[in-house]
Amino acid sequence: MNIVISGSGLVGSLLSIYLAKRGHKVDIYERRPDMRKAKISAGKSINLALSDRGWKGLEGVGIADEIRKIAIPMYGRFIHHKDGSTAYQAYGKKEQAIYSVSRGAINMKLMDLAEQQPNISMHFNERCDYVDKNTGTIKFINTETNNVTTLNPDLVFGADGAFSAVRLNMQLQNDRFDYHQFYIEASYKELSIPPGENGSFLIKKNALHIWPRGSFMMIALPNFDGSFTCTLFLTHEGAEKSFEHLKTKEDVLKFFNEEFPDAVPLMPTLVEDFFTNPTSSLVTVKCYPWVFNDKIALIGDAAHAIVPFYGQGMNCGFEDCVVLNSLIEKHKEDWPKILQEYQVLRKPDGDAIADLAIMNFVEMRDKTADAKFLLQKKIEARFSEKYPDKWIPLYSMVTYSPHIRYSTALKEGLRQEAIMQEIMALPNIEHIWDSEEVEKMILEKI
Ligand SMILES: Cc1cc2nc3c(=O)[nH]c(=O)nc-3n(C[C@H](O)[C@H](O)[C@H](O)COP(=O)(O)OP(=O)(O)OC[C@H]3O[C@@H](n4cnc5c(N)ncnc54)[C@H](O)[C@@H]3O)c2cc1C
Repeated sequence: MNIVISGSGLVGSLLSIYLAKRGHKVDIYERRPDMRKAKISAGKSINLALSDRGWKGLEGVGIADEIRKIAIPMYGRFIHHKDGSTAYQAYGKKEQAIYSVSRGAINMKLMDLAEQQPNISMHFNERCDYVDKNTGTIKFINTETNNVTTLNPDLVFGADGAFSAVRLNMQLQNDRFDYHQFYIEASYKELSIPPGENGSFLIKKNALHIWPRGSFMMIALPNFDGSFTCTLFLTHEGAEKSFEHLKTKEDVLKFFNEEFPDAVPLMPTLVEDFFTNPTSSLVTVKCYPWVFNDKIALIGDAAHAIVPFYGQGMNCGFEDCVVLNSLIEKHKEDWPKILQEYQVLRKPDGDAIADLAIMNFVEMRDKTADAKFLLQKKIEARFSEKYPDKWIPLYSMVTYSPHIRYSTALKEGLRQEAIMQEIMALPNIEHIWDSEEVEKMILEKI
């Protein structure tokens, strides 16, 4: 078939490889210039955490080893408290890690790998402007020449991100198209910790650093050159501590010295970065359907944009490709059946990871510094070690268990949380947490 993909981001690029390997002719049209030539960053130079679902997506087309070369394992959270003390919380069992990758680096690598397929062509500076819901006719406008290209492919994929033009066109043309978009109160800003001498790491390399401060937080992920990309997540406006109130150099320094005193000496360009880098919003998008007239389908952020606190947006998009591929296998290229089952299967999982991501914001910014919450995690970890077939902690289900659907993980996680709330309410739980009594109670409740 002739397939057109709108968007050569992370998901569009990977999807093209899956489709090309099945013999389809794939044309990708991308609004931006070729970032490999223009040396522009892929939008935001934010690092992404790649975990097992993402790896599975890459392995499915045999490119995981290529990506491993540009990924740094992070085995746990390294917590920086306000008083300067620190704590380390492993993410899972030994050797279980999530991986820090630069968005630009992984996107460029995926584009390189896509272009190695003889039946993939990439077209840059081409902005999708219109898609016809009945025919799948799609129109791109060249952003340099204004030339219009109109195509009539057999199939169109909208992989054009959170503000998808394909989705917008479907929204305008389809009666009863469900669309729900909401912003959380926090926005984010990228900052930086440069490398030490000779490219050394000034804070622990193989960890995701968190400065949890209740209603806001800063995180840092490692880069190969010894630097860390930091992200400050802070209320946009309306609160005493918010971006709205950080207007001058003095405001910024006062805020950082008060809240992140151990980080400030590591951030020599803090003030410059703060005022140069944009403050960006965080949106969740839920919509349905994802498939239109057996001709057009949404995938990745275009179908389900989520906030980044579970580190799953890209991973979820890569998993979309895995599911689609397994359905192509199952239905032997019967595309109406493939697409129908794809949207029915994936929609509950897209919704579930969107909700989990919001829930994890509260956990990261607030609870990672809370002694009671840490005790709860300790009890869960111990119980799970003893009864691995009865209890997989929610974080592990989402991050390290690609065979468990996000929707199942959410359901199971809520059930576990209800049990743990009862356990944590026991008087003296601090002293009896590893007793037989507590273990028996959990077993009964399960
Ligand atoms: C701050 C932040 C941190 C994140 N951290 C993580 C993380 O740790 N782990 C994780 O898994 N995910 C993370 N994510 C989510 C992740 O970035 C997205 O889920 C992922 O990029 C989705 O890939 P995509 O290909 O669907 O969309 P995108 O990567 O956004 O790609 C869409 C592409 O479509 C192009 N495009 C847009 N409009 C048009 C048009 N009209 N015509 C043609 N082309 C168009 C764009 O230029 C872009 O290249 C994070 C997101 C943010 C904002």
